[in-house]
Amino acid sequence: MSTLTNPIIVKCPTCKCPITWIPEQLFKPFCCERCRLIDLGEWVMEEKRIPGESLELENDDREDSFFQ
Ligand SMILES: [Zn+2]
Repeated sequence: MSTLTNPIIVKCPTCKCPITWIPEQLFKPFCCERCRLIDLGEWVMEEKRIPGESLELENDDREDSFFQ
């Protein structure tokens, strides 16, 4: 295969620094893992502000019978 494609340059959404859109760029569209985590963190915070399905945490009640 001899495909000559110009590398796509995108800007990291977090720090706005240019990155090359290549398979080797593991954190695309982010420049690094740090930027990716920062953006994910903001996304999670936005999710929490949206009222919707209530997250039911499973209580581990199995321990109770153990202490009887
Ligand atoms: Zn970045």
